[in-house]
Amino acid sequence: MPELPEVETIRLQLRRSVLNKKIKDVIVKDARVIKGISGSAFKTKVKNKTIKDVIRRGKVLILELGSSLYLVIHLRISGWLRLNKGIEKFCRVGFVLNNGRILNFCDSRVLGEIKLIGDYEKLPIIKSMGPEPLGLGKAKFIKLFEKKTTKIKPLLMDQNFLAGVGNIYAQEALFCAGVKPERKSNEIDKKELEKIYTCLISILRKAISKKGASVDTYRQIDGDEGEYIPLLKVYQRQAKPCFKCKSPIRRKSIGGRGTYFCPRCQK
Ligand SMILES: [Zn+2]
Repeated sequence: MPELPEVETIRLQLRRSVLNKKIKDVIVKDARVIKGISGSAFKTKVKNKTIKDVIRRGKVLILELGSSLYLVIHLRISGWLRLNKGIEKFCRVGFVLNNGRILNFCDSRVLGEIKLIGDYEKLPIIKSMGPEPLGLGKAKFIKLFEKKTTKIKPLLMDQNFLAGVGNIYAQEALFCAGVKPERKSNEIDKKELEKIYTCLISILRKAISKKGASVDTYRQIDGDEGEYIPLLKVYQRQAKPCFKCKSPIRRKSIGGRGTYFCPRCQK
């Protein structure tokens, strides 16, 4: 699933390419991704609107269409956006822009969602979302984590607790910090929490600079893969030697999610 660095990459690329472009037409290929209204009502409301801003909150992308109208896009597991001249194979909704380009909302498994809303901040998924890690600061991060009795890895991934971090970057941050993913948050000392914070922030920043990790269906808006996969230290590296100590990387399920870690470096 695209996480903060992937959605932020899409946001930055869309800002450069579709800002102030007018949506001349909307091609609804599969209305199942549009939630709350019919495909034809969606088309009528979006047609002739201009993309005024591109916003990100956690893993959610928001296009501001002016006059209190927002297009909220959640890519979830199998969605991606592609900007080109035609309609893509897995395109569910195509936004035809006045520069001859089509912004394709693609989804191979139809698990993503598009919503049209007057105030995106009132949407339950946004309203209940935890703070953004990149704007949080070390002291607030520690305060947030030091009393929680939940295991650290699922806690890092809990969108209502901290926004934008998912399965990939949670385990990469914990490897970097040398902390076992199943430890309870309140049993991790302050120095280690500081390390988790520092690691998480630097990994998220690096991943944004590398335009994300193209595991599953995520691609940049021109269709290219992100460049972060070669930099992954534990994710999907089961049985491969740890980059620090050469021990084989292990995988186990924590909170129902596959988790990779080094049994020797992570304490
Ligand atoms: Zn190791």
